Amino acid sequence: MSCSNYDWNAYALGELDAAARLQAEAHASACPDCRQELAGTRLTLDALSVLHDVDPPRRIAFVSDKVFEPHWWQRCWEFFRTPSFAGALLIAIAILVHAFAHPAGVDQKQIQTIVARAVADAQQHYQQQLLADYEELQKQNRLEYIKNTGLVRQ
Ligand SMILES: [Zn+2]
Repeated sequence: MSCSNYDWNAYALGELDAAARLQAEAHASACPDCRQELAGTRLTLDALSVLHDVDPPRRIAFVSDKVFEPHWWQRCWEFFRTPSFAGALLIAIAILVHAFAHPAGVDQKQIQTIVARAVADAQQHYQQQLLADYEELQKQNRLEYIKNTGLVRQ
């Protein structure tokens, strides 16, 4: 008989009757290919016997099923990872850092101080000028008076 007449799976599972079993063993002892096939089948059965029993899934899921749709937080995370969001976040952080590094209150205070100092300087300068003008006027008036009254000879 040729190799294709032997069912090595049935042999390994003990499903053959005694006559078929003896015939198969006689063939296997003379045929290396069938011995190799039988060894592979036995190895597979041994490996399967070690595995735990696992219930098959109750239903088969398809890729299009809702089970495979991302959760809302997964979609949020994907959004946060987009380049446009990352850019917007960078700009927002830059604005915040700038706001904390240069608070508007401090700038306003500096401006007020500078303006107040400038106003005070201008007032002081104006008062000095006014005083100088007044003194000059007084001096001229005195000289005029002296001239008019003839106290000084010309
Ligand atoms: Zn064979």
